[in-house]
Amino acid sequence: MKKNVLKITLFLFLILIMSACNSNSSDNNNNESHTNDKDNKSETTLKVVIDPGHGGKDKGATGASGKYEKSFTLSLSKKVEKLLKQEFGIEVFMTRTDDSFISQESRYRPKYANKLNADLFISIHGNTFSNPDVSGTETFYYHKNSHLLAEVIQNHVVEATGFRDRGIKKKDLFVVKDTEMPAALIEVGYLTNAQDESKMRTDDFQSRVASSIVEGIKEYKESSEKQGVLERIF
Ligand SMILES: [Zn+2]
Repeated sequence: MKKNVLKITLFLFLILIMSACNSNSSDNNNNESHTNDKDNKSETTLKVVIDPGHGGKDKGATGASGKYEKSFTLSLSKKVEKLLKQEFGIEVFMTRTDDSFISQESRYRPKYANKLNADLFISIHGNTFSNPDVSGTETFYYHKNSHLLAEVIQNHVVEATGFRDRGIKKKDLFVVKDTEMPAALIEVGYLTNAQDESKMRTDDFQSRVASSIVEGIKEYKESSEKQGVLERIF
C-alpha cells in the first residue's frame, strides 16, 4: 500500500516536472515577442507632470473679479489630468490636487518631476499686468530641448483661447529651468483683463483649453517619437 502511494507520488511529481519544462519551452518561443511588448510599452508610455501654479497662501495673481489665479490653475489642471488619464500611453502626475501651499524655496515642483523621471513637465498659470487692456496667451521655456514642446503647446492653446498670440519666450523661471525633462509654462491668458477673465473662469473655456493642451502633448509625443528620442538635458 505504502509502495503504491510512493509510486503515485513519484509519477505525479514527474508529470509536474515535465509540464513545467514544457511551459518553459513554449514560453521561450514567445519570449521574444513578450520582451518586445514590454520594451515598446516602456518606450511609448509618456510620464507627464501637470503643475497647477501657486496654491494655499501663494494665491498668484488677483484677477479683475478679485478671484485668485491659484483656483483657475487648479481647475484647469484637473481637467487636463482627467483627459490625460483617458489617453493610452500617457501617465499623468500632479504637483498638487488641492489648495496646498508649495514653497518656492523647496523647489518641490521640479524636484517632484525629476524624481519621477518624468518625460514632460507642464506648468499652468494665468497672467497679470497693471494695464487691464493687455491680453494674450504665451508660453515660457528655458532649455533648448524644451523649445519644441513650448512651440507645439503654444500653437494649440492659442487656438483654443482665441486670445492674441504672444508667442513663446525663453525665461529664467525655476520650474522650467530646474526640470531635467522638456518643460513649458503656459500663461493661458490675462486674469487682469476683465473680459478675458470672465471667459477663463467658465467651464466651457477651460474644457477647450484642457483638450488643446492634451492635443499639444500628443502632437509632441508623436513628433519626438519620430525623431527617435525624448531628449534629456542631463
Ligand atoms: Zn502664476
